[in-house]
Amino acid sequence: MEPPGLRDAAIAWLLERSSDGQEPLTREDIKDFTFNGERFPIQSTQNGIRKPAGFEAALSFYTVFRTPNQERPYDDDLGSDGLIRYAWRGDNPNHPENRGLRRAMELRLPVIWFVGVAMKPARFQIVAPVYVVDEEPQHKRFVVVPVENSLFLPDQLEGSAVEESMKRYLRRETKVRLHQPVFRSTVLMAYENHCAVCNLAHTQLLDAAHIVPDHDERGIASVVNGLALCKIHHAAFDQQFLGIRPDHYVEIRHDLLEEVDGPMLRHGLQELHGKPLMKLPTRRGQHPDKKLLEIAYETFRSATSAGYR
Ligand SMILES: [Zn+2]
Repeated sequence: MEPPGLRDAAIAWLLERSSDGQEPLTREDIKDFTFNGERFPIQSTQNGIRKPAGFEAALSFYTVFRTPNQERPYDDDLGSDGLIRYAWRGDNPNHPENRGLRRAMELRLPVIWFVGVAMKPARFQIVAPVYVVDEEPQHKRFVVVPVENSLFLPDQLEGSAVEESMKRYLRRETKVRLHQPVFRSTVLMAYENHCAVCNLAHTQLLDAAHIVPDHDERGIASVVNGLALCKIHHAAFDQQFLGIRPDHYVEIRHDLLEEVDGPMLRHGLQELHGKPLMKLPTRRGQHPDKKLLEIAYETFRSATSAGYR
């Protein structure tokens, strides 16, 4: 039997350890979980789904890290309805692990999803609780949502106004709890926790900036549309105070170059004009996409010529 309270304790502990799902954890980190004074493994080491011995329902599942330069990393997981899909283990619907995940759906139990964001060592973003809300046997997969399942009642959704607002809510939650943390982790790891522009190396002061904003349909949530930037350079980039040429050279808006002010303006912006980026990912496949840089640089250029907003 599942020890009462274990599932909730594991979720609370993981969220605490991961700064509410923002920081990825290694397998070693995850192994530290204890319940009633004893270590209890909450992640499978071999297979995707963990259904501990004696448990009726699965406790967690994981997805492995995929190469970050894939253009649309979520296509396999996300249907056009914005819901997440998770493949069965193998082909047999009655494999104990598939049964375990199905049972979590029937019992409406919260489940932990470990999303792989790096290898060597493997690191996982924590998305929890998630709920299994449906199964698509023809595609050999489950349907998962990252929201409280009491809010998700598929029967009520068909073609109603509720359906539209529910879908909007789901998309927003998926973005906040899945895409944004995964994007931040993969970008910061690619840049080894340095600002691309000034090399600052304090994660608390770093953001994962989108080269093309994510409200633009070209603004994909992939590392190739990302730059690790410190807070000031992120804001400067977004506000077109600072541009990055497709050949990785920094430009500062012309009017700012003539302004006279304190050390932040001088060292933090003016002196970077014409300098190359100080930090890029070691792996070429993680470098910023040239086309996306061109789009952003064009925006910078037109903002500059439009009279220095
Ligand atoms: Zn910086």
